[in-house]
Amino acid sequence: MCGICFAWRKARDMQISVIGSGYVGLVAATCLAELGHNVICVDSDSAKIAALNAGETLIHEDCLQELLSRHRGTRLLFSTSVQEAARNSLVIFIAVGTPSADDGSVDLSCVEAVARSLAGAMNGYKVIVEKSTVPVYTSEWVQNALTSKGHAQAEFDVVSNPEFLREGTAVTDFLYPDRIVVGASSERATGIMREIYAPLIDGSYAQLPSAVPKPEPARPMPMYIETSPRSAELIKHASNAFLALKISFINAVASFCESVGANIEEVCRGIGSDSRIGPEFLRAGIGYGGSCFPKDVAAFRAVTHEFGFEFPLLDEIKRINEEQRARFIRKVRGALRTIKGKRLAVLGLAFKDGTDDVRESPAIKVIEQLLEEKCQITAFDPAAMDRAREILNGRISYATDPYAAAEGADALLILTEWKEFANLDLVRIKRLLRSPIVLDGRNVFSQAEMAEAGLTYHSIGRPTLEVSPSLLKKGQSAR
Ligand code: NAD
Repeated sequence: MCGICFAWRKARDMQISVIGSGYVGLVAATCLAELGHNVICVDSDSAKIAALNAGETLIHEDCLQELLSRHRGTRLLFSTSVQEAARNSLVIFIAVGTPSADDGSVDLSCVEAVARSLAGAMNGYKVIVEKSTVPVYTSEWVQNALTSKGHAQAEFDVVSNPEFLREGTAVTDFLYPDRIVVGASSERATGIMREIYAPLIDGSYAQLPSAVPKPEPARPMPMYIETSPRSAELIKHASNAFLALKISFINAVASFCESVGANIEEVCRGIGSDSRIGPEFLRAGIGYGGSCFPKDVAAFRAVTHEFGFEFPLLDEIKRINEEQRARFIRKVRGALRTIKGKRLAVLGLAFKDGTDDVRESPAIKVIEQLLEEKCQITAFDPAAMDRAREILNGRISYATDPYAAAEGADALLILTEWKEFANLDLVRIKRLLRSPIVLDGRNVFSQAEMAEAGLTYHSIGRPTLEVSPSLLKKGQSAR
């Protein structure tokens, strides 16, 4: 038998539970089934479980629907019972939410509820895996939750296996990761974790004819990094804080570009071509959002403070991020002179492209501010309109496509970097707008294409492009 087949066979049939069926839990459960394991995905939200059992996908993620159809009812089951799932599993991944508490620290109540349930379901050795993002020392804390209920340390191991998937590319991120980090303190748990991920570590998954195609550009084989549980917990918080830092850094540089008439795109090309820095995450915009960066930066700050270590750089990352949105609002005000009563078209509601997630979305925060200033907003997003409605209700109107949103608007605002927006017919957009003004909070367009379309173009960290008054249509207001 060849090495690949051997690894593939070895990885099959592990009994696994994944607790939490959100963006991480559902993707992890589905991908673990795709790797050949038998998975029970659990959620306390019975409506979610009913919908998943009925064949719904619940979240917008590439390839997820296809993999769910492939494994649902065979390798992948759904349940509302943590205890029943845990009793039938050797390995239990905890993938519940870990939101921010009011003081920025992590609210671990969902993790605690799961740990309490697990304490009542121990019927043999189990590996309990922290997939949720948690502060350093949580593995000890989960361990204590079980030992305090009379379970001997030999009955279980708690492992930290942080998740690095990005919404929008979650499935391929899980199946073709840059790295897999496993923080375990026993040989037994270390071996079981290696077995779970064997088809990814040795590349045998990618060789299967049915494998989800590897994303382009081709990724190298993942690094498999084994650490202590504390280091693994710290790796996740430090990684997200560093990525947020990179975004805030480039946004601060973009603001300075605006002060001196430089162009952030040119500056980024120059910075990013240094192999020590790299081009990733050097995109200026209206700042980071989502369910991870804001809360993880705050959580990292809180946990460092708790241990007596001051890390003010983390405060500055957040301050710059918030300033970036305020700066964009000032730009809108400047472009329209007054904004009260203006009709604005907004493209993008999700916190980033490729997802329907609007949690902590900069787009939603910008809209909330513009509504406070009495603007009327018509928005379009390819995937996130239903979720946005849950937050914004009927306070804005929703369009069926970007052109319908633009019709009769005083300006067009781009707030999420959906690839679809880059292909808009700008001449048609100009015809539809009441004033030919575009404010691009994500630098989706080049200045050359905006100039060609005759649109006044405000972007981030680049000089403003003013449309010549002679190009304005009759009846349009010159700025
Ligand atoms: P989510 O809110 O989408 O999903 C969490 C799920 O857990 C919900 O469906 C909820 O009903 C369920 N849940 C809560 N308590 C439960 C309990 N006691 N028993 C069973 N189910 C319970 O959250 P998410 O975005 O999937 O994030 C989960 C964790 O993963 C968080 O710690 C997050 O920081 C981390 N993470 C998220 C991402 C991401 O991109 N979303 C990436 C990496 C890591």
